[in-house]
Amino acid sequence: MKRITCSGCSLLCDDLIIKSDGLFVTEVIGACLKGKERFDQVSAQNRITHPMIRKEGELKEVKWEEALNKATEIIKNSSNPLLYGFSNVTCEAQEAGMKLAQKIGGFIDSNASICQGKFLNKAKKLGINLTTITEIINKGDLIILWGANPAETIPRLLNKVLFSRGKFRMTGREIKTLIIIDPIKTASFNVMGVRDLPLIVEPNKDIDLIRILKEECCSVDSIPSEGVAGIDKDDLKRMLLHLTGAENGVIILGQGVIQPHPDYDLVEELLELLQMINERQEKGRISLLLMGGHFNMTGFDHVALSAYGSSGSLEFKKNQKVKTEETLVSKIENDNFDSSIIVGTDPISHLPHSLSSKIAKKPLILIDNHSTASSHIAEVVLPTAISGIESGGLAYRLDQIPIELSKILNPPNNLPSDEELLNQLYELLNQGRSE
Ligand code: SF4
Repeated sequence: MKRITCSGCSLLCDDLIIKSDGLFVTEVIGACLKGKERFDQVSAQNRITHPMIRKEGELKEVKWEEALNKATEIIKNSSNPLLYGFSNVTCEAQEAGMKLAQKIGGFIDSNASICQGKFLNKAKKLGINLTTITEIINKGDLIILWGANPAETIPRLLNKVLFSRGKFRMTGREIKTLIIIDPIKTASFNVMGVRDLPLIVEPNKDIDLIRILKEECCSVDSIPSEGVAGIDKDDLKRMLLHLTGAENGVIILGQGVIQPHPDYDLVEELLELLQMINERQEKGRISLLLMGGHFNMTGFDHVALSAYGSSGSLEFKKNQKVKTEETLVSKIENDNFDSSIIVGTDPISHLPHSLSSKIAKKPLILIDNHSTASSHIAEVVLPTAISGIESGGLAYRLDQIPIELSKILNPPNNLPSDEELLNQLYELLNQGRSE
């Protein structure tokens, strides 16, 4: 039996116990269903265990040498490559990806830029209070899920932050108030008790809710009698009372809040509301926790900041980092790339068709461990070990805490880790040869 950390999602639970015969994990104790599925990926039907290249329109299994030759040929013929993904790989692999991007004059970005990274960029201007899981467990008395459904996406998050007892209190769930703001009644509503506050907001009306709360912060009694965005006036007042009266409150933000809108900036307005509430707070503070899904979505910014001095996307020209206003979306929208290296993600399924169709038209090198829509259109598929099971390394938990992942099993066919593969590509290009 061995204690390990789960890489099934960004909570990186470090309390799993596993039993292994050296070839497979035979027993997993303490994981949620999603965590167990992560272990099932080792022998899943869609696992890729051989490199492949496209020949006469079809992907064919080939030897590593041929696949790497093809990959380096695509890279050498590309003057403006796009590197994307990197939130399902370790920090070491992220750094190797950045080094490769520098070498080949590419633009590199992670899934975080279209997810929680947006908050961090805005927060640079406005400031932000982030908190940790441990803080919420030990001191939290108010938890607000805003557009977040952890019961299904980060299954053990509520077990930890809502139901556990803190170190400094004899009480746990009974003193924690849960507020959920969502347009639909998600699975997370099922854990609500009588003291909690379920708020079903009308679709795309979060902005009205934020603005009225900001107004109410400045002049009391500005909430109209019929309520706002489908939420009752009394419930809004209760929410504001909780926000201004909590000792240690946290707003856990999910995907629902960060969808872009042409007429307003929801993220910015929400951060402003948070600032106003914290100015009114007499005994405590309200912090944020950003809910990214992939296990190392937070790591990319840390690695970029420590290796290149800026977080978020990076662009390189002639081996130097250059200042860029480009984003992943603008790069693709404007067709400002001529090949892509996709690592551990599936943009063909996840991005809107207007963007994914543009990616599909250019040569794509995919580095991943299982087949996806992206692998079906790739020119080259380079399979790797599964991080946190077949390879180790560092990852950042959703609350920005670094956690070490360990290798438990040998990968099939001795597959390289993402880091090893990216370094191998770098070396081949560095040597100016592809054998
Ligand atoms: S919550 Fe996430 S990290 Fe924890 S066991 Fe489930 S999948 Fe693994």
